[in-house]
Amino acid sequence: MKIETLAIHAGQHPDPTSGAVMTPIVLSSTFAQDGPGNHKGYDYSRSGNPTRGTLEACAAALEGARHGLAFASGCAATTTILHTLRPGDHIICGDDVYGGTFRIIDKVMQPMGISATFVDMTDLALTEAAFRPETKMVWLETPSNPMLKVFDIERVCAIASRKGVPVIVDNTFATPMIQQPLGLGATAVVHSSTKYLNGHSDVVGGLVMTSDDELVQKLRFLQNAMGAVPSPFDCFLVLRGLKTLPVRMDRHAANAQTIAAWLRRHHDVARVYYPGNDDHPQRELIRRQMKTPGGMISFVIKAAGGSVAERSQKFLAALKVFTCAESLGGVESLIELPAVMTHASVPAETRAALGIDDGLIRISVGLEAVDDLVADLEHAFSASH
Ligand SMILES: *Cc1c(COP(=O)(O)O)cnc(C)c1O
Repeated sequence: MKIETLAIHAGQHPDPTSGAVMTPIVLSSTFAQDGPGNHKGYDYSRSGNPTRGTLEACAAALEGARHGLAFASGCAATTTILHTLRPGDHIICGDDVYGGTFRIIDKVMQPMGISATFVDMTDLALTEAAFRPETKMVWLETPSNPMLKVFDIERVCAIASRKGVPVIVDNTFATPMIQQPLGLGATAVVHSSTKYLNGHSDVVGGLVMTSDDELVQKLRFLQNAMGAVPSPFDCFLVLRGLKTLPVRMDRHAANAQTIAAWLRRHHDVARVYYPGNDDHPQRELIRRQMKTPGGMISFVIKAAGGSVAERSQKFLAALKVFTCAESLGGVESLIELPAVMTHASVPAETRAALGIDDGLIRISVGLEAVDDLVADLEHAFSASH
């Protein structure tokens, strides 16, 4: 079956007791046993829950995976995967991954004896040179945030596979509608379902999908032992969000393509970072790897009179449809200043090296009428002069 059908039906059947078409929200923390140790598949909701199980099955199908595991947040999913490592192990990680991922590796895992090398994975020779005998995992996130650099999943996986090292891909920005990393050689995919998968900015959640039976056993053990599981209600909301993921992703990308093209022609804009730019240095890879360029755009505003920092602050304050907020992937358009908001904890030198300066603005393009979004941006450009 195609992904649009799986998004609505995978893992789901009308409830046998009532005929309910929608998956029931099973809030029970515990489940009756016919006799001690003799239960119908569920005993305690940290270990497993029917609503969560349905979400896990549906999410797995979308990534073409045999198994799915749901977590209380994207960071909980990441932490659980990283706990499959042991002291002395080494991880290779992209140098501009999600800040929270960098923080877990740098501040939580390194003190526990896991060493890490952060590399620019657009450079495959550099990536290959980072491998050591004790390297046990590669962490790849593409497109990157907020510079929207694209990394070659298939080639990085080919290098890692020659060394027998699993690759974990954070697919939050692209979603399985745009790329399916398991088909390109990745061992597991991780998502912050807080973003596009839920898509309505009302859940914090995480998911891991994999077809590796050995890895999933370890992850199930850790999921239960460490306990960062999502509530059944949140699972229901993500499951409901998944049903419209295909139509939402098409509209996010269509709106973003219109806005990126418009920004590129605008005299107040110095640069636009978007995987759909036809002069993007990685356009060959993007054409091969991504079905659409997605819904995230970053751009650099030009200064007007005062400093560029002042202009970007005024620009954001003048918007009426876009909401100034962190996060992304919801139905509503969001806008933020990475240097001050999402990436404020990144050291200033690193920010400068990555190109995250005071004039850089990131937008998560929502599902509103694109004409209203363009008019809102145009008004803010004029009002911030
Ligand atoms: C938000 C995000 C995360 C972390 O997810 P939470 O649900 O906020 O814990 C991880 N990776 C990426 C790419 C993200 O955008």
